[in-house]
Amino acid sequence: MSEDWGSIRFVKNQFRRFYEAKSKFVKAPTEILRREFGFLSFEGKTMIRHLSFNNEDQLRSAIVENTPAHIYYSSAYYKNPEAEMDKKCWLGADLVFDIDADHIDTACKEDHDNWICKSCGLEGRGRAPQTCSRCGKNSFEEEAWLCDRCLEAAKFEAQKLIDILIQDLGFTPLDLEVNFTGNRGYHVHVKAPMIHKLDQIGRREIVDYITGTGLKVEFHGFSRTRGGASTMADPGWRGRTARAVYDYLSEADEASIQGLKLSSQALKNILEEKSEILKVLREDHSSRILKYLDLKSLQALVEASIKKQASAIDTVVTTDLHRLIRLPNTLHGKTGFMAQRVNLDDLEDYDPLTRAIAFKGDRIRVMVKRAPKFRIGNEVLGPFKDEQTILPVAGAVFLLCRRAARVEG
Ligand SMILES: [Zn+2]
Ligand SMILES: [Zn+2]
Repeated sequence: MSEDWGSIRFVKNQFRRFYEAKSKFVKAPTEILRREFGFLSFEGKTMIRHLSFNNEDQLRSAIVENTPAHIYYSSAYYKNPEAEMDKKCWLGADLVFDIDADHIDTACKEDHDNWICKSCGLEGRGRAPQTCSRCGKNSFEEEAWLCDRCLEAAKFEAQKLIDILIQDLGFTPLDLEVNFTGNRGYHVHVKAPMIHKLDQIGRREIVDYITGTGLKVEFHGFSRTRGGASTMADPGWRGRTARAVYDYLSEADEASIQGLKLSSQALKNILEEKSEILKVLREDHSSRILKYLDLKSLQALVEASIKKQASAIDTVVTTDLHRLIRLPNTLHGKTGFMAQRVNLDDLEDYDPLTRAIAFKGDRIRVMVKRAPKFRIGNEVLGPFKDEQTILPVAGAVFLLCRRAARVEG
């Protein structure tokens, strides 16, 4: 079996042993009777959906017995969770946010991601281009890896999201659940009953608020005639826009400011009197910067600035009322890491590459096709290319789950 990249039987066996010992840590979601579950097996490509369990024990037994590669449950509550979609009878749903390093532009992607054109075989680093520069086709096989920088970036987005949920939308820490996804990001669940019935449009509005979409500067304190002035300390997007502009102007170089759609007068003012503008933002009402910028230019400046203040959530996940989402304290079949509940107070110092490592024990000999440098706990492994090596079991399972290696001997 020289082509058995991924050594599925070996990995599945590891997963089974893990669940035999650790399934007692798998917690049923609230109102388990109302939830749909979905299992994705190692062998199959389709999800087994519409599963339902009466209690936590039954769920745990099914996990041990089936040893799925991925385990999901519905953010929704149904009258009949095991029925077909149209007969389920939707009763409500948690509000769920997905943050994935895939959606965040981190420079490290150039170091660890690569793509190959499915038509002509051209290869490259980082993200795949829109179209292949050699053959003009647009179908690629992409290989996305993770590293500390990706995971830190995802955590930062989660922290901004949590801040907005608590400071602006009035949820309490008790309403929130934060989970490392087991791969490249975090899930934030809002379980407060008051949002259960929220429809898609309501969820869309929350998404727009969190991403700062459709924000008009004149309604956020940058107008002397509408709702007065604001300062950087103001709550909500009023203060956030002012802080965003301040941070942006402090850090941006001349070239990126010139890239904004500003009037020539506004551009001249910003370049020549930047420190004055920053002083106004620091010490005065932010509307006073209209002395330097017309409203249209300010709108362009704010739109460029707020990206750092908004949270890079996956908008599709939040607005999907029937989403299946990964069950915490289960294994992620593409990494072998645990999807893991993280205490809100621990998030700042949380290190998934130490805490979410599920497999400990013997080292294993593997043949590695290709892998960038990666870390498991305190150990940095790789990079590897077409070579045999002996890895700690968590590192081996990680590469096997990614089909980048196979067990030898
Ligand atoms: Zn090509
Ligand atoms: Zn990275």
